[in-house]
Amino acid sequence: MTMTKTLSVSAIQNGTVIDHITSGQTLRIIHMLRLLHKKHKVTVGFNLPSKRMPLKDLIKIENHTLTNKEANEITVFAPEATINIIKNFEVVQKIITSLPPSISGIFICPNTLCITHHESIESFFHIEEQGRQIKLICKYCEKGFERKEMMVERKC
Ligand SMILES: [Zn+2]
Repeated sequence: MTMTKTLSVSAIQNGTVIDHITSGQTLRIIHMLRLLHKKHKVTVGFNLPSKRMPLKDLIKIENHTLTNKEANEITVFAPEATINIIKNFEVVQKIITSLPPSISGIFICPNTLCITHHESIESFFHIEEQGRQIKLICKYCEKGFERKEMMVERKC
C-alpha cells in the first residue's frame, strides 16, 4: 500500500474511487447513481486541490464496483473524471470512459411544456459533443440543453 502526500480522504479497501470530478457536480452524480438510495458507504471530498484542474471533487464508494454504463454517464457531468476500481487498497482497474450517445431515465426535460412532464414517459436525450461543451437534445420536444441546465430526477 502506497500513501501519497496528496491523500485528503481516507483510503478504502475495496470499491470505486471517482476522482477529478468537476467541482460542483458531485451531488448530481450521487443522485444519478442513486448512491444514497442503495445504502452504499460513500465518502465525498469537495473542492480539493488538484494539479490537473482548479479544484476537484472526489467520491469513494465502498464495496461497490461501477458498471461501464454508470461510468460513462458520469462523463456527462464530469468530463475529466477518472474512475478507479480498488481491491485491497490497490488500483486494479482504471475504467476508460467515453461520452454515451444518449442518456435515458435520469434527467428531467428542462422544457416544462415537454410531453414528458404530462405523461409518464421515461426521459431520453441524445448527446452531441461540441468541443468541451455538450448538448443534450430531448427526443420528445427536440429542444437542446446544456449540461448546467439539466436536473436529475429525484428518485433516490
Ligand atoms: Zn423535452
